[in-house]
Amino acid sequence: MSRKVYLYINPILFKYGFPNHPLNVERYQEFLNRFDRIRDEYIDCIVEVNEFRCSESYLKLFHTKGYIEYVKRLSELGSGFLDYGDTPAYKGVYDVSLVSVCATRDAVLKTIDGGVAVNLAGGWHHAFRDRASGFCVFNDIGVAIESIRDVALNILYIDIDAHHGDGIYYSYESDPNILIFDIHESPRFLFPGTGYSYETGKGEAVGTKVNIEVMPGADGNILLNEVRNIDEFITEKEFGYVIIQAGTDGISGDPLTHLDYDIDSFVKAVKYLVSIAFDRGVGVTLLGGGGYQPKVFGEVWIRIITEICGML
Ligand SMILES: [Zn+2]
Repeated sequence: MSRKVYLYINPILFKYGFPNHPLNVERYQEFLNRFDRIRDEYIDCIVEVNEFRCSESYLKLFHTKGYIEYVKRLSELGSGFLDYGDTPAYKGVYDVSLVSVCATRDAVLKTIDGGVAVNLAGGWHHAFRDRASGFCVFNDIGVAIESIRDVALNILYIDIDAHHGDGIYYSYESDPNILIFDIHESPRFLFPGTGYSYETGKGEAVGTKVNIEVMPGADGNILLNEVRNIDEFITEKEFGYVIIQAGTDGISGDPLTHLDYDIDSFVKAVKYLVSIAFDRGVGVTLLGGGGYQPKVFGEVWIRIITEICGML
């Protein structure tokens, strides 16, 4: 296995965000400030990826033509909303969102034979095939899944962002080849209001999805206990790749959610999930997802990346 972590860093990629909005570029700046201080120490482990292939055609792997054109139009116009009011359009939002998709696609392809990749400006799990939702314009995860599914056969998608990954869940609800394990705040208390524990897949895909609801105030111990349920879920299941959306918005103090995970437990949980890919000898991509405390975002991701270096 490659003893490297491929870290996606690109000036356009790190523009993924919205003006005067909880999801803004300050989070990447907080990360970069910290990364500058450790860059030399981890030079043998962390490979910075600045350049990657990017084409509009990738979007069509997951999104409808009409929706792609709609985003393009609003991006040129530079005003209005891409959804019902959470995801504003601005000039260039199409290009920034496309680059985010290209980074995640490149990450999974680069590590399809093993290794670790990280795209902090990815994990836009609320976007549907034909619409934006919850700060997510294009679903980079969906495009990544479609890019490698012929090679990986089954893909394990893990989501510990505080919000349910509805854009992925409902796109693959009836698809037995996409395994989904998603821990999130109970839909009774948080957007998008889906992801009940009785939602376990449809038709021939029943049993290939797990939705775990945690209550407002759930702490790091609860997260760690729930994460360990993945062992039972994946027993006797085959998969050729792992994608982890590790949104940090469940960490104490987040302005948009009501969870109380501590940083140590969160990092431990992510390491536990990464070790699943290592144990099976398959590649893994980690995605930044949500997280609306810029300093926490920067600190947690530095810890995750450096601690993964210690696992390699
Ligand atoms: Zn979230």
